[in-house]
Amino acid sequence: MRCPFCGAQDTKVLDSRLVSEGAQVRRRRTCGHCQERFTTFEIAELQMPKLIKSDGSRVPFDEEKLRSGILKAIEKRPVSIEAIETAIARIKETLQATGEREVASRVIGEAVMNELKRLDQVAYVRFASVYRSFKDISEFREEIERLENGAKRVPEEK
Ligand SMILES: [Zn+2]
Repeated sequence: MRCPFCGAQDTKVLDSRLVSEGAQVRRRRTCGHCQERFTTFEIAELQMPKLIKSDGSRVPFDEEKLRSGILKAIEKRPVSIEAIETAIARIKETLQATGEREVASRVIGEAVMNELKRLDQVAYVRFASVYRSFKDISEFREEIERLENGAKRVPEEK
């Protein structure tokens, strides 16, 4: 760690402690060259994995792209921005929780579908129809029927 006062590299940690309920480490440091003291904070960086597309290419996770895809599916549907942001946060957590540096892009597609299914059935079908690119209208109708039946069905006890 370089000293922010004189630029020397021989700084020393005097004291470390957890702050923000353990989410951060606060360190008091001193510079061996100019004796100035300063504080650094350390937080874990949760990296988003890269996405592996079906053609094998890797693309960085793009939150804006994710958001616009969801907003498009949810257009004119009674879903609050807050619910959408919560869904996006959960999708990101799902990706981070894999602990992988690269995940298949369908993982994100499935995560979006899971969230939309919960938020709004119409938005779900809209997204699924684009995402799964249903081959024909009958396949699309099957999906809608499956949804309608699923909504009516009472969960069986096991
Ligand atoms: Zn210094």
